[in-house]
Amino acid sequence: MNLLSIKAVSGIFLFVLLLGVMYNFNTNRTLEPSEKTEGTSVDGCAAKTITFCPEGHLKSPDHLKYKQPSIIHGRTNVVTVTPWLAPVVWEGSFNPNLLDAIYKPKNISIAATVFAVGKYTMFLKDFLETAEQHFFVGFTVHMHVFTDKPKEVPKVKMAAGRKLTVHTVPSADRWQEISARRMEIIQKLIEEELQDNTDYIFCLDVDSKFYDRWGTESLDRLVAVIHPGYYKTNRDVLPYERRPSSKAYIGLGEGDFYYCGGAYGGQVQEVHQLTKTCSENFKDDAKKGIEAAWQEESHLNRYMWINKPTKLLSPEYLWQDFKSKEPEIHTIRFSGVIKNYAAIRPNA
Ligand code: UDP
Repeated sequence: MNLLSIKAVSGIFLFVLLLGVMYNFNTNRTLEPSEKTEGTSVDGCAAKTITFCPEGHLKSPDHLKYKQPSIIHGRTNVVTVTPWLAPVVWEGSFNPNLLDAIYKPKNISIAATVFAVGKYTMFLKDFLETAEQHFFVGFTVHMHVFTDKPKEVPKVKMAAGRKLTVHTVPSADRWQEISARRMEIIQKLIEEELQDNTDYIFCLDVDSKFYDRWGTESLDRLVAVIHPGYYKTNRDVLPYERRPSSKAYIGLGEGDFYYCGGAYGGQVQEVHQLTKTCSENFKDDAKKGIEAAWQEESHLNRYMWINKPTKLLSPEYLWQDFKSKEPEIHTIRFSGVIKNYAAIRPNA
């Protein structure tokens, strides 16, 4: 073989080797959520060995039968999208079977946090039992209960794929303290236990019960629940923190909605960012002797005003048992029970 043909053969060899390396790289890796899908199948993101669908790519099972969607018929007495084009979830605005069929093959895992400190352990039984009936039924769910009285956590029968972990936290002399430090604890939970194995997290108040489905329709990057007490209120009288010296400050003519501190969630990375920022802001306020009007809820409202939630859940997702049902509320999914504050809180 002369020099020229040796060069040609080794050139071809190198080219074939390069093709092989590129093929291997494309078919064996797992995509990061932010990456674009390349080399996907005609159906979308689930090309042979790519194991993760980026957020927003909702792959429906082949030939699934469901009610025909419409853009001219649907809910008419409520708004189902925000000015920044995030959906607002109301009964009748989604198809639960379609959504479950889309999310089921993704094998998603959902964590929920709930705090029961002092006498609030009395709410755990109903909360946990009704969650079994309505909260992400059929999905992988890990409940994290934070309490100062681990022995008072009731034994609740949980379905396959669902589990509960009890975390011990200190007692508190003031209810404001409990409401103030939940976010820091959730931030640590995400850092220490969830960030590598959990997709979504919801942070919920314990003095509440589930009455109807809360499921895959609530999933998104950053999810806020609109407070049932203020969704018809002019924003200038919403109970935001109004002192400019506070890091939770929202001025007159500012803000979008009033969001609940008793229910929020999203992807664990997003909720980590939220809880970290809010607890840092809370501590910065404390150094100046400021406690925001509604503790963490005020900081959450400020955070969500700047960092727009990607999905909003209507007040169906946190109603209050003492409120009569309004005409636009077609179902109540989760609702705060009636309670005697003087009897259950450590301070008035
Ligand atoms: N909480 C608690 N023990 C208390 C007070 C509050 O565990 O003594 C927790 C509990 O998870 C409760 C949440 O903090 O659901 C919010 O407090 P609360 O329901 O009293 O506030 P509200 O929503 O009624 O203003």
